[in-house]
Amino acid sequence: MRYISTRGNSPAQAFCDILLGGLAPDGGLYLPESYPQVTRAELDAWRKLSYADLAFEILSKFIDDIPAADLKALVAKTYTADTYRYVRNGGNPAEITPLTQLEDGLYTQELSNGPTLAFKDMAMQLLGNLFEYVLEKRGESINILGATSGDTGSAAEYAMRGKHNVKVFMLSPNGLMSPFQRAQMYSLQDANIFNIAVTGMFDDAQDIVKAVSNDAEYKKQYKIGAVNSINWARVAAQIVYYFQGYFLATRSNDEQVAFAVPSGNFGNICAGHIARQMGLPIARLVLATNENDVLDEFFRTGVYRPRATAETSVTSSPSMDISKASNFERFAFDLVGRDPAVVRELWAQVDKGQAFDLSGTDFWAKMPQFAFVSGKSTHADRIKTIRLAHGRYGVMLDTHTADGLKVALEHRLPGVPMIVLETAQPAKFEGTIREALGQEPQRPADLAGIEELPQRVEVMAPDAGAIKRYVAERA
Ligand SMILES: *Cc1c(COP(=O)(O)O)cnc(C)c1O
Repeated sequence: MRYISTRGNSPAQAFCDILLGGLAPDGGLYLPESYPQVTRAELDAWRKLSYADLAFEILSKFIDDIPAADLKALVAKTYTADTYRYVRNGGNPAEITPLTQLEDGLYTQELSNGPTLAFKDMAMQLLGNLFEYVLEKRGESINILGATSGDTGSAAEYAMRGKHNVKVFMLSPNGLMSPFQRAQMYSLQDANIFNIAVTGMFDDAQDIVKAVSNDAEYKKQYKIGAVNSINWARVAAQIVYYFQGYFLATRSNDEQVAFAVPSGNFGNICAGHIARQMGLPIARLVLATNENDVLDEFFRTGVYRPRATAETSVTSSPSMDISKASNFERFAFDLVGRDPAVVRELWAQVDKGQAFDLSGTDFWAKMPQFAFVSGKSTHADRIKTIRLAHGRYGVMLDTHTADGLKVALEHRLPGVPMIVLETAQPAKFEGTIREALGQEPQRPADLAGIEELPQRVEVMAPDAGAIKRYVAERA
């Protein structure tokens, strides 16, 4: 299996060669040359597998440069009931991503049972083990530099903590994350994890990461890498739980399901799109946005209009607050018939902050075959939906999942089970839960009082030079 760039001007690469990198050299995103297909016989056999064995079968179709026995061991070590241990609502921990039935034909799928209580653990934990394995084989090391407003940074730190040949330098906006999120990250005492609280906003932190990324010499000298949402291995790992959700919600492979996906950077639902392209019987992919509705606008109108920073709002489902969706280019590549020249043309606009409009084109006429629908959810919708789920189904939802359920209810197909992906636990968003329900969300027992633990964090000014020196001294 070779990987090609959506912009068509980079050489095809093997899985391990794109694992540690980010964008392709031509600025595009990597995708498999073609999507592996799943036969009916495979689906029938896979229905009986454990999550780890299912992950092995699916990932084997995308990874041919890690020996099967090694990949099997890496996957088995990743997808354990011990790592994904915060199962709620009476789910079976052995299923790793169990379903909760809300009513007949309506489910949530818990993707947030990992160490940081958000779905990014599903892929990031595998990434940690893959990184360690490949770096060890190659006798290399990496220093991961990232900026986070919450979920990604903590998922990366919990995935990389204690890993050989990996260090993590994570910038976060000083004082702007919730006390729980701060405690999650800053209480880590592992020697390979460095938290830097930047006295500024998230954008200031991200600008520093960009400045470092643009300094090719520094990047090379200090082996700087990233684990951002465009990483192909993260998307690949996320394909697995679509298959698992399908098997859990159906009795036979003649049935179809729909998935509703709370979306920001389009990484999660991109994995659903690929699962469907592989042949998983998905009748519909329901994309849900919050007030930052750039993706909902595209799927309704064909216009993709990245927002200016000033146009992007801070919402109560903050992990979906995006101005443009970094993985969207992968879907666009498929939509335009995998023609890199068209993607280059479209992203020449996007990279200048401008919109493109596919409505009225032959490409847009092909949209129905991709089975996407979309909708948006506001703070008021979110509060209402959290109340509804609690009152009617006795289930406490987090704010992002509530956006997913709100939009899912607008797009159900008769006789087709609808699975809403649960992307975080309510414990992460106490303020909004209190506003909706007048009570505190339950927190896993072993995370009680985490705010009281000693914290390890360096507070620094948003000064790229100073932060480069800090990293250089410790890399
Ligand atoms: C990251 C995240 C999302 C958005 O996922 P994308 O892959 O960026 O679309 C939704 N909900 C939660 C809780 C997240 O952490």
